[in-house]
Amino acid sequence: TSSGSNDILDHFNRVLKEKNLQDEVQVVRTGCFGFCEQGPIVKFLPDNTFYVKVEDKDVETLVEEHIIKGRKVQKLLYEEPKAKEKIEESQKMPFYKKQYRVALRNAGTIDPENINEYIAHNGYLALGKAITEMSRDEVIENLLESGLRGRGGGGFPTGLKWQFAKKANSDQKYVVCNADEGDPGAFMDRSVLEGDPHTVIEGMAIAGYAIGANQGIVYIRAEYPLAVNRLKTALNQAREMGFLGENIFGSDFSFDIDIRLGAGAFVCGEETALIHSIEGYRGEPTTKPPFPANSGLWEKPTLINNVETLANISIITLKGADWFRSFGTEKSPGTKVFALAGAINNVGLVEVPMGTTLREIVFEIGGGIRENKRYKAVQTGGPSGGCIPAEYLDTPIDFDNLSALGSMMGSGGMIVMDETTCMVDVSKFYLEFTVEESCGKCTPCRIGNVRLLEILDRLTSGRGSEKDLQLLQELGNIIKDSSLCGLGQTAPNPILSTYHYFKDEYEAHVYDKS
Ligand code: SF4
Repeated sequence: TSSGSNDILDHFNRVLKEKNLQDEVQVVRTGCFGFCEQGPIVKFLPDNTFYVKVEDKDVETLVEEHIIKGRKVQKLLYEEPKAKEKIEESQKMPFYKKQYRVALRNAGTIDPENINEYIAHNGYLALGKAITEMSRDEVIENLLESGLRGRGGGGFPTGLKWQFAKKANSDQKYVVCNADEGDPGAFMDRSVLEGDPHTVIEGMAIAGYAIGANQGIVYIRAEYPLAVNRLKTALNQAREMGFLGENIFGSDFSFDIDIRLGAGAFVCGEETALIHSIEGYRGEPTTKPPFPANSGLWEKPTLINNVETLANISIITLKGADWFRSFGTEKSPGTKVFALAGAINNVGLVEVPMGTTLREIVFEIGGGIRENKRYKAVQTGGPSGGCIPAEYLDTPIDFDNLSALGSMMGSGGMIVMDETTCMVDVSKFYLEFTVEESCGKCTPCRIGNVRLLEILDRLTSGRGSEKDLQLLQELGNIIKDSSLCGLGQTAPNPILSTYHYFKDEYEAHVYDKS
């Protein structure tokens, strides 16, 4: 929208009407193609021509040349900078070559506001299969065998979570979709909901069938108005077609979904805080156990999955666990969506099989560092994660490898930094964010992180001492060990990981003040 895509779309419709082509050529507004750096993008079918950086003034040329005369408009084709070669189809571009789209399979392909397009891409087939051909245990068994792990950050086995929720004894259960995406620079969940809302709805309905819930709730931040509107449209369409409501597929299974808007507090992505927020209380975490699968929303068993996790459910149900395990790594099967940002040539949304290396993502898909500068580090996992230096660029990415490097998968934010970045400034940026977002309920996080920030302030203003360096680590580890929820437990991670890998930069702030 900010690049003028809506104007371009209206312009296409106007010109096609003027030329009497409105019945022959259909203009479809899709979700995100992922290649944000090259937007606005216009793709022509059936020949798959991919035009990039299209402007309003190019519309008449595209209609005249491509549609009427059947000639490609060379100046709007993507040019691979290193090879200086024009590429016509997205699949041949380095940005897309190593990607494998599962959660994003329909984004950029279908009109997210038209349920028929989703159905034409096997939409709601998995829900039908689950209800009419599989028992509830079989649905969960398939998910367990697939090895799908929660894509919201924790990496907990999704099938196990479903099994706990199914085993919980109650007359009322809930399925909650966590769409409270809050990491700076992350926009994976937003893109899934904007580009393919039905896949999330179908995933939730399958979850409802499997655990025995009849009510779903999508908790989504109010700052995502397009995603909210598309979700509302999709919910209405799903109800009209009988995929939500009473007796779905003629069975005794009934399920419907409501939307709850969040006010944008980062801590509300934490499961217990999210539950309190939906209930109308302050979004503050509570201790676990009890886990939401046993006692969640209104003290009823509640299954909470994030958007990307749910976007994997229908295709795993349809194609089976072996198919899902055929890509990714043994302990982290499947793919992961990353929001690639920072000092990188190709900013955008990418989905790659787990096990893809950081080097492949940064230098092949991402096109390398801007202005030919040197790579310094990549921050994964947002404010809860850490910075990974150049010597680990060949590490295959999965949940366990990132943790072993002192970072984490998180929800999929990936911010690339070049040689000019000061790593002390980076950790200060993330700590300012967590201090701002701390709910204040427990002392280590509420006060400890403020003290950490004061130390970073001293260091970056030339007032730091050797003792400050020692304090950073001691206090960081205490906050990690003693905070109540994930926000506080991970808040010192950016400091601890940058201190580990870039200690010389911290020391330079103390000893090198010339
Ligand atoms: Fe609140 Fe921070 Fe404590 Fe979590 S760790 S409960 S965000 S004060």
